[in-house]
Amino acid sequence: MTGSAPEHTKVAIVGSGPAGHTAAIYAARAELKPMMFEGWMANGVAPGGQLTTTTDLENFPGFPEGILGGEITDRFRQQSERFGTRIFTETVDKVDLSKRPFVLTTPERQVTADTVIIATGAVARRMDFPGAGEGAGGFWMRGISACAVCDGAAPMFRNRPIAVIGGGDSACEEANFLTRYGSKVYLIHRRDEFRASKIMQNRVLENEKIEVLFNSVVTAAKGAEDGKRLGAIAVRDVVTGAERDVEVSGLFFAIGHDPATRFLDGQLELDDSGYVVTQPGTTQTSVPGVFAAGDVQDKKWRQAITAAGTGCMAALEAEHFLEAHA
Ligand code: FAD
Repeated sequence: MTGSAPEHTKVAIVGSGPAGHTAAIYAARAELKPMMFEGWMANGVAPGGQLTTTTDLENFPGFPEGILGGEITDRFRQQSERFGTRIFTETVDKVDLSKRPFVLTTPERQVTADTVIIATGAVARRMDFPGAGEGAGGFWMRGISACAVCDGAAPMFRNRPIAVIGGGDSACEEANFLTRYGSKVYLIHRRDEFRASKIMQNRVLENEKIEVLFNSVVTAAKGAEDGKRLGAIAVRDVVTGAERDVEVSGLFFAIGHDPATRFLDGQLELDDSGYVVTQPGTTQTSVPGVFAAGDVQDKKWRQAITAAGTGCMAALEAEHFLEAHA
C-alpha cells in the first residue's frame, strides 16, 4: 500500500458480477465516476463473478442463442469502463463503515467513499470427491452443477436420471424442479431425515419421479462410456457401508451457499446464514449510505438477472443518497 493520502470516490463498488457491473454502469452514466474493486479470486471466484464458472447462459434476455458465461462478463466489464468506471483488480479485505466517508482497504491502496455498494456474491458450496472437480477426470459442468434453475433444462439431462445432494428446502425444491426434465431424480441425503420444512418434504415424498436415498453419501463421480460427461455416481450407505453405482447424467449440489461477507467484520447487519440484510424492496443496509446488491443479499433467487436488477437499484439509491446528503 502506498503512503499517500487515500483517494476519494462518491461511489465505491465492491464485487464484479452482474450486480456490481450494473451498479457501475448506472453510477457511471450518472457521472458519479465510480471505483470498482473487482477482486482477485475473492471468495475463490475470478473477477466477473460466478458466471465465469459456467458455459452457456441461456436465460439472460437479449441473447436468444445464449452466450458463454465468460463472454457476458467481459461485456459487462467493457460497458462499465465505457462510461468511466475505474476498475481495480484488487480484493477489499477491510472496511470501516463506522462513519462517513467510509474507508475501504485493499492490499494495494486505501480509498474513502461517500457511498458503498456491496456486490460480492455468494458461492454455492461444492463437494470434494473423485470426479467432482474441473479439468481432467472431473465432471464439474460436464454433468455436475450447483444450480438446477440455471442448468436443469440442458439437453444432456432430458429424460435421463439425475441426482441431487442435500436435505434442506433448496434440495427438495431442486429435486422437484428437476423432475420436469429427468426421467427420475434421486435425492441423496446423509441423514435419516430431512432438515426441510414439512411441506417441502411432503412434495418430495409424494412425487413419484423422486427416489430418496437416506443415510447415503456420494463418494465418486464416474464418466459415461465416452468419458466426456458424467455417467454414474458411487453411493455409499453410511449405515451398512455398502457401496453401489447409480447411473445418472446429472448431479446437483444443493448444500447451501457462502455469501462473501466476512470482510465486513460484523459492521453490517447479517442474517443467520451470513447474507447482508436489506430493507424489503430496497438495497439499503443497516448503515445509511451502504447498499447491497445481488446474491450477497439474496438467498432466494440468486440469478444473474435478479443480481443485475438489484445492482441498478443500488446505484439509483446511492445517487439519491448523495443528492440528499450533498
Ligand atoms: P457474483 O457473480 O458472485 O460476483 C461477485 C464477485 O465479487 C466475484 O467475482 C467475487 O470474486 C467478487 N468479490 C467477492 N468478495 C470481494 C471483495 N472482498 N473484494 C472485491 N471483490 C470481491 N444465473 C443465471 O441467471 N443463469 C444461469 O444460467 C446461471 N448459471 C450459473 C452457473 C453456475 C455454475 C453458477 C455458480 C451460477 C450460475 N448462475 C446463473 C447464478 C449467477 O451466476 C449469480 O446469480 C450471479 O452471478 C450473482 O451475481 P452477483 O453480482 O451477485 O455476484
